[in-house]
Amino acid sequence: KGGKMADKKVLVADSITVGELAETLHLQVSTLVGELFKNGIVATINQKIDFDTAQIIVEELGIDVVLERKKPVEIVRVKHENSDKAEPRPPIVAVMGHVDHGKTTLLDQILKMHKVSTEAGGITQHISAYQTERNGKKITLLDTPGHEAFAALRQHGAVLTDVVIIVVAADDGVKPQTVEAIKFAQNANAKIVVAINKIDKPTANPEMVKAQLASEYKLTPEEWGGDVLMVNVSALTGEGIDKLLDAVLLVAEMEELKADYDIPAEGLVIESHMEQGRGSVVSLLVEQGTIHESDVLVAGTAYGKIRTLLDFKGDRIKKAGPSTPVTITGLKDLPQFGDSFVITKNERLARKMVTEAKIEHEKNAASTNVTGADLLKMMSHQDDVKDFDVVVKADVQGSLTSVVDSLKMINGDEEVNVRVIGTGVGNISENDIRLAMSGNTVVYGFNVELPPNVKRLAQRDRVEVRIFKVIYELIDDVKASMSNLLSPKIVDETVAELDVKGVFKTTKDEVIAGGEILSGKVVLADKPLVRFIRKKEILGEGELINIQKQKHDVKELFESEICGFSAKVQNRINLEVGDKVQFFKRELVKREIK
Ligand code: GDP
Repeated sequence: KGGKMADKKVLVADSITVGELAETLHLQVSTLVGELFKNGIVATINQKIDFDTAQIIVEELGIDVVLERKKPVEIVRVKHENSDKAEPRPPIVAVMGHVDHGKTTLLDQILKMHKVSTEAGGITQHISAYQTERNGKKITLLDTPGHEAFAALRQHGAVLTDVVIIVVAADDGVKPQTVEAIKFAQNANAKIVVAINKIDKPTANPEMVKAQLASEYKLTPEEWGGDVLMVNVSALTGEGIDKLLDAVLLVAEMEELKADYDIPAEGLVIESHMEQGRGSVVSLLVEQGTIHESDVLVAGTAYGKIRTLLDFKGDRIKKAGPSTPVTITGLKDLPQFGDSFVITKNERLARKMVTEAKIEHEKNAASTNVTGADLLKMMSHQDDVKDFDVVVKADVQGSLTSVVDSLKMINGDEEVNVRVIGTGVGNISENDIRLAMSGNTVVYGFNVELPPNVKRLAQRDRVEVRIFKVIYELIDDVKASMSNLLSPKIVDETVAELDVKGVFKTTKDEVIAGGEILSGKVVLADKPLVRFIRKKEILGEGELINIQKQKHDVKELFESEICGFSAKVQNRINLEVGDKVQFFKRELVKREIK
């Protein structure tokens, strides 16, 4: 595959029917059905496929478009406040820390030690949350899909995590992502428990980690008189893990976490995908109330009656209370990660809620077109520096060095920088994907492979992986991606100038004045912007609303005509006779990094 950037963007909903996709892509339905068939999917025109499948098909057909997910629609977000009947609930715990410090190993070890896997040979499939038990008390653990995803959840107003376990490798100490995790936990108002990991290693130095945390990050271990529980563990051998879970429970207990059990469930979507024969498979985290087997629910823009309700192990259950991860099938569509869900009385009501929310969304979407006011505002946002973050993997050290060196040479434009946040020799790994998840990071591979399990993870977590066999193609792709981040160049073209001969009205949002066109031509339909000028000083800018000749509305004004005009402004302009008004067009021109 080449590194050519597609120039066409197509918005696609999170799930789309084969017919709709064919239409969007201007393809024969039969072509699409054929391609799906090659991929082992037998589909009819009305069958829904998910975004990832659509993406794969587009790739395989080599169509020059970029699929983009349509923005999710926000459905009502009822956030239940605890009543006085609220009862204790299990803590929701996230595991975070620097890459390679042992998060995955720790989660796996807890799964293993607490025998939470199913009879049928353990959990092979990826699960996004599970529960474990310690002395009869439950703990809900989230397999954190990156800090970015959590940030997204928080933007939704969701306070998902009660406790963050920060994993720090005892042989490596505090690293950038450790700091990020600490900040995340603090911003999210979550309690911190530190797992000092890899203490089985001879080079482990847990005291050094504690000293670092205490002196630099104000996390003082309890045994030093502070209030942060820090536990030495080995995720590899299992040593200390029970103590870690005890610490989590202790912290949770002090927080007095509670929820109502006797109300309809509400919570968050933590994973969703389409599965053959099962339709949409959606993992939810119940935050409040109890979800029942027969509930009808609205999640994002999806709704439906639950067909099967499963616990995280995949066993059928009848109901589940607060802090419980569950998986359901039966929704007619795919909700997105981070969507809220609520229970409704019946499907009719659910459909109504979704339809209304969609209409509302369309309205909002329509108003997001660039307006004259946006154009006026845009000037001030030009000099924000943006980073294009990449992870680079290459087959050998030599080629890695030359790729990274070539990337460094691109920088120089002060507005977009390429930032290499990780490098390595060898195939793309799960760690690369995890590293990339913490931002809009692209993983670049040079002469390496993308193993299928890593590809799946990348798709799930929406991390883009691009592999090249020719260095300059890789570099060109980076440049093209950086160009997309460049804010467009603003080009103003003056089309006419007017000499102010009378000022009729100036308010904080309007100017009505008259004068003579000194040069050029004004066409109202072109929606020109106006600029008020005194001598050489710019008094302000505005949008032209109306033009008149002899008190009659007109569409155009020509040189030397006497006319009136009204303009919408952001601040009061104290326009005076003798000032000049320029009518101009503002264009946004895409820039490119060469
Ligand atoms: P993550 O990136 O934080 O998820 O880290 P992983 O769980 O993938 O672990 C990174 C590497 O450290 C792997 O090779 C693990 O086997 C190793 N590792 C994790 N925990 C321990 C531990 O307690 N002791 C030792 N010796 N190695 C560990």
